[in-house]
Amino acid sequence: MSDCIFCKIASKEIPADIIYEDDNILAFNDISPQAPVHILIIPKKHIASADDINYEDQALLGEIIIKIKEIAAKAGLINGYRIVNNCGEDGFQSVKHLHFHLLGGRKMHWPPG
Ligand code: 5GP
Ligand code: ZN
Repeated sequence: MSDCIFCKIASKEIPADIIYEDDNILAFNDISPQAPVHILIIPKKHIASADDINYEDQALLGEIIIKIKEIAAKAGLINGYRIVNNCGEDGFQSVKHLHFHLLGGRKMHWPPG
């Protein structure tokens, strides 16, 4: 996707503070952190949102969830953390490339706004 900012980060057209990378997954610090640790985890493949995940993406999504756990451990989030996915208009998704927010380092609140 030529006009997708996260595809551009994945292809290194746009710089980011990269935390983890492999063939399928990229993790980088959010440009506007909402917690002491705020990392975005994305598939390198362009999937527009959680609502666009298909059964063919099962293995990829499984990898992402396990990788989030490992990234959280490396970031020192031994007391817990929050994984967030905003999906679509009502979910307040601003970047239309599937991403998971890993938030930690402070006590989270519930319910979210
Ligand atoms: P959403 O609202 O779509 O769930 O989250 C998008 C996130 O991407 C926001 O937290 C925003 O701060 C982050 N973001 C948007 N543009 C960039 C960018 O160019 N670089 C980085 N590192 N984060 C970005
Ligand atoms: Zn994209």
